[in-house]
Amino acid sequence: MAGKRDYYEVLGVSRDASEAELKKQYRKIALKYHPDRNPDDKDAEEKFKEASEAYSVLSDPEKRRIYDQFGHAGLEGSGAGGGFEDIFSSFGDIFEDFFGFGPGRRSRRGPRKGNDLRYDLTIDFMDAAFGKETEIEIEKLARCSECGGSGCKPGTSPETCRYCGGTGQTTRSQGFFVVRSTCSACGGTGSHIPFPCPKCRGGGKERIRKKVAIRIPAGVDSGSRLRLAGEGEPGEPGAQPGDLYVFINVKPHPFFQRNGMDIHCVVDISFVQAALGTTITVPTLEGEKELEIPKGTQYGDTFMFKGLGFPSLRSKTRGDQIIQVRVNTPVNLNNKQEELLQEFARIESEKIGNRFKNLFKRRR
Ligand SMILES: [Zn+2]
Ligand SMILES: [Zn+2]
Repeated sequence: MAGKRDYYEVLGVSRDASEAELKKQYRKIALKYHPDRNPDDKDAEEKFKEASEAYSVLSDPEKRRIYDQFGHAGLEGSGAGGGFEDIFSSFGDIFEDFFGFGPGRRSRRGPRKGNDLRYDLTIDFMDAAFGKETEIEIEKLARCSECGGSGCKPGTSPETCRYCGGTGQTTRSQGFFVVRSTCSACGGTGSHIPFPCPKCRGGGKERIRKKVAIRIPAGVDSGSRLRLAGEGEPGEPGAQPGDLYVFINVKPHPFFQRNGMDIHCVVDISFVQAALGTTITVPTLEGEKELEIPKGTQYGDTFMFKGLGFPSLRSKTRGDQIIQVRVNTPVNLNNKQEELLQEFARIESEKIGNRFKNLFKRRR
């Protein structure tokens, strides 16, 4: 958002300009720099976008109030001045006034793509680690199987709309401008269906259930999104279908926790094992593996199995498995054990006593 010009400056109006003044100035600039009048002129396109953005903000009393108070920063993330396409759609009404397009402009950009679909899929931890091929069943709109999407009763065909002569638009002149609007009789399609298909009632679409095979790559995480191109809903005739997005959710594992590409786990050992050292068996993604616990291991110490974490989705690397040790204090000791520990404690206190004595000496 750096280096943005002041919106009032862009439109060449004072800060207290009325709504009518804003509209007048914007109209002037938009007419001059409109892309249709300046084809392939990047500079004009930039000026047009800049003015459109400025007008979209200043013509909205709430956004104008925020802008006056906080400047550009106040509007960040509010959606003001999004893309070029957004500007066209939100200004459809104004451009229809100005140039005679608006919704009709769509036809020049081609028929509309079908809707995208979302499917939420929960998978097991191990499937996220190793990937999986599976099948999901989705419900979606598809072309009607009876009429193939035409909307006409089989054996009949659509007729040209009588009101617009098949153009989908009606025109009338108003001052300098020719005002074009979508034909209300055919809704812009340019045709009329005399005998609608009984199955879809002329809509050309029906709701179906469909099985879709998907391949989940190894390394996915909760929030990963798979795109299946063309598996969404059908578009307008001649247009691309939408896409299907599968949102992945990974179930937690009772023993492993995932942290990015690494796997964390906690293992319990006794205080004797911690003190004397031992070898324990630890579950990994690849099965059980032995881990050497050295003498004098402390509560919370961590060990690592390199390369036994999750695979990366983007490269051939793998994370690590981090093993954290929890040292357990023994309970329910028998007499012999207690005796031995008492003995241990005596020796230990002598050692500690000597250390304190030494400290004390040194201080003096
Ligand atoms: Zn049909
Ligand atoms: Zn029509």
